[in-house]
Amino acid sequence: MTIASFDHLGLVEPLRRALRDAKYETPTPIQAQSIPHLLSGRDLLGCAQTGTGKTAAFALPMLQLISEAKLPLRRNAPRALILAPTRELANQIGDSFRIYGRHLRVSHTVAFGGVSIVHQIRAMSRGVDVLIATPGRLLDLMNQRHVFLDKLEIFVLDEADRMLDMGFIPDVKRIIAALPQKRQTLFFSATMPDTVKGLANSLLRNPVPVTVSPVSSTAEKVEQKVLFVDRDNKETLLLSLMKDVSISRALIFTRTKHKANRVAEKLNKHNVIAEAIHGNKSQGARMLALKNFSAGRARVLVATDIASRGIDIKGVTHVINFEMPMEPEAYVHRIGRTARAGAAGIAISMCDGEERSILRAIERIIKVTIPVDAEHPFHAAHLAHGPARAGGGPRRFNNQGGRPFRPSRPQGNRSYASR
Ligand code: AMP
Repeated sequence: MTIASFDHLGLVEPLRRALRDAKYETPTPIQAQSIPHLLSGRDLLGCAQTGTGKTAAFALPMLQLISEAKLPLRRNAPRALILAPTRELANQIGDSFRIYGRHLRVSHTVAFGGVSIVHQIRAMSRGVDVLIATPGRLLDLMNQRHVFLDKLEIFVLDEADRMLDMGFIPDVKRIIAALPQKRQTLFFSATMPDTVKGLANSLLRNPVPVTVSPVSSTAEKVEQKVLFVDRDNKETLLLSLMKDVSISRALIFTRTKHKANRVAEKLNKHNVIAEAIHGNKSQGARMLALKNFSAGRARVLVATDIASRGIDIKGVTHVINFEMPMEPEAYVHRIGRTARAGAAGIAISMCDGEERSILRAIERIIKVTIPVDAEHPFHAAHLAHGPARAGGGPRRFNNQGGRPFRPSRPQGNRSYASR
């Protein structure tokens, strides 16, 4: 079912006005399917990733429900809580509340670690309607008795699968234990592995299930290609790619923080203005890098997977995988940063000899064979056609980041892949 406008979802005029201001014309599928149910107080189980419009799907009804109740602010006791795995995502959700709530009187604040807690404590003691927080900082605030959740009315858990990947589930469970039984709960996850499903079942009551944009369909919107290249030639290949002026806003992915810095330095040295973001940078430095990139002052943003999570920057023309991701699912998250809102996007993956098995694992999950671009000066023909690693299946990685852990090569079992 497509809904042609926001006029029939039950949203009040101040919200529709804000949507007109933001130039949103048509609700996205998750918005059309969720908003009426959320307005009626139902729980929601949303299987959706960033880029689907899921933030507005929960923010709009929350703003409406909170503003309609017209209750006075309570000190240290927010009425709604949104838990997000990263600071960037928390900030973006905060921005969305500001944009959609501009004609309503609903207050919100964002709380995450890595910055001074003092302002967050002050905001809580003044009282806010909606608290948007990362789990660690929220627990700090709760332990220091600056936040009490026993009166909470609406709880949103965003990107539950990332929470799991990042090891936040014990923190999340501690927070959940402090919530009142009677509440409205909204649960979002891009993927639904069993642990995430179990968590959802324990939290939700008779939820409306909404699934949009399965992993493979996001990948289908993006024009993808793979460039086989020896590892030592990757930097030179990247510099030669960047001569293409149609690459006006590129997000480049590396596996490690060190590599992200190195690639950004190399590009800058060759007059391609680049910023890098990763977990070792301070919050201020990350925000500045993002600002420079989204304002067009930097043509390139080099990022690691975790740092890039949830970042929504408009007009990314190209995603370049300087290194293939450690997990095949991360490929889908990476390339989903381009081709937003129907725009065309291109994803270029550089694949060296060690990365071919992860490439095959990616192709299995996206159910697409990524076309090979051999028309570049560093094409490594031996990789495109040569023998694959023994064993064939997805490679196993250690948890330290960077180098893959390779099981010892079984003898006498050489398999040949098509590439
Ligand atoms: P999200 O999936 O919430 O991260 O949203 C992805 C992007 O889509 C954000 O930049 C939103 O501002 C934008 N967006 C969300 N809903 C709509 C809509 N109905 N029309 C146009 N843009 C939208």
